[in-house]
Amino acid sequence: MHIPKEQSLYCPKCNTHTEHKLKQFKSGQARALSIGTRSNIRKHKKGYGGKAKFTATVKKQNKKPTFIAECAVCNRKVYRVIPKRMKKAELTAAA
Ligand SMILES: [Zn+2]
Repeated sequence: MHIPKEQSLYCPKCNTHTEHKLKQFKSGQARALSIGTRSNIRKHKKGYGGKAKFTATVKKQNKKPTFIAECAVCNRKVYRVIPKRMKKAELTAAA
C-alpha cells in the first residue's frame, strides 16, 4: 500500500490541521537493565529449562505499519498507526 509522505493531520500543540511529514518508525534497542529484560532473563535461567513462555502456534504474518508524523510548524512528533495489518506499506511522494 502506498502512503503519502506529506499529510495534513491534526496537531495537538497547534490545535489545528497542519502539514506533517511522515517517517518510518523503528523501535530502538532494548535496555539491558530494564525490568522487563531482567525478569525475562530470570525466567529463562531458573529451573530445569522447559518452556518459559506459552508459544503461540500461529504467528501473525504481518505488522501494522507505524509512522512518526512531524508537524511542519512546531516540529511536534505524533505516532501514526494504520489499524490494519499489511505486508508492505511504502511512503510515496504526495499524490
Ligand atoms: Zn504543530
